[in-house]
Amino acid sequence: MVTTLAPCWYCSGLVRQFRIGTLIVGESRTFAGGLDWLREHGVEVIDLDSTECRELLEAFIAKHPEVWNEDIGEE
Ligand SMILES: [Zn+2]
Repeated sequence: MVTTLAPCWYCSGLVRQFRIGTLIVGESRTFAGGLDWLREHGVEVIDLDSTECRELLEAFIAKHPEVWNEDIGEE
């Protein structure tokens, strides 16, 4: 599976439920999600630490903080 940002707890659960073996995330600085938990359970996590993805998310957060905080916000 390939994602722009790290999966939330709900999506992390689905990664395991459907036995997805490798997860490629664009970046995890804006949101770490369940990456450590997935790694602990044998999922190969590749974090590209992409500046492009981080800037995309930071721009979204700056423009729509209410949407970001509603779904993700503080961990
Ligand atoms: Zn999610």
